[in-house]
Amino acid sequence: MKDTESKREREKKTVEMMIGLYCKKNHGSLKGDLCEECGRLRDYAFERTDQCPFMESKTFCTNCQVHCYRKDLRERIRTVMRYSGPRMVLYHPVVAFRHLMETKRERKGLESGKERMLQNVFTTPVKIDRPSGIDL
Ligand SMILES: [Zn+2]
Repeated sequence: MKDTESKREREKKTVEMMIGLYCKKNHGSLKGDLCEECGRLRDYAFERTDQCPFMESKTFCTNCQVHCYRKDLRERIRTVMRYSGPRMVLYHPVVAFRHLMETKRERKGLESGKERMLQNVFTTPVKIDRPSGIDL
């Protein structure tokens, strides 16, 4: 349970970072600040994450099959992700790397040898929690 909650918090932090980056570059907001529109989007994303019953099995809202986001806001969050996703590597490499790994693992459902290799390259401070029952 504790894992689920920390995952929830982590997802919220990542979403906030991505929206922040998008807003700063596209709407000229100051660092750490969001324009009104993006503030609403963040609040909405937080709310969805807080209420998500699939936190344990999924890794990220944009990856989720359930699509609980309202249609217009889903489009907007996707725009943000498309913009900020690749740029996260520059601004927040640790978060980006972890997110990439989690996303990849979810898509495949299995850990690959390549991922294991990357885990060795990035030892600390990136902690990758793998699902139990998978024998490495
Ligand atoms: Zn904005």
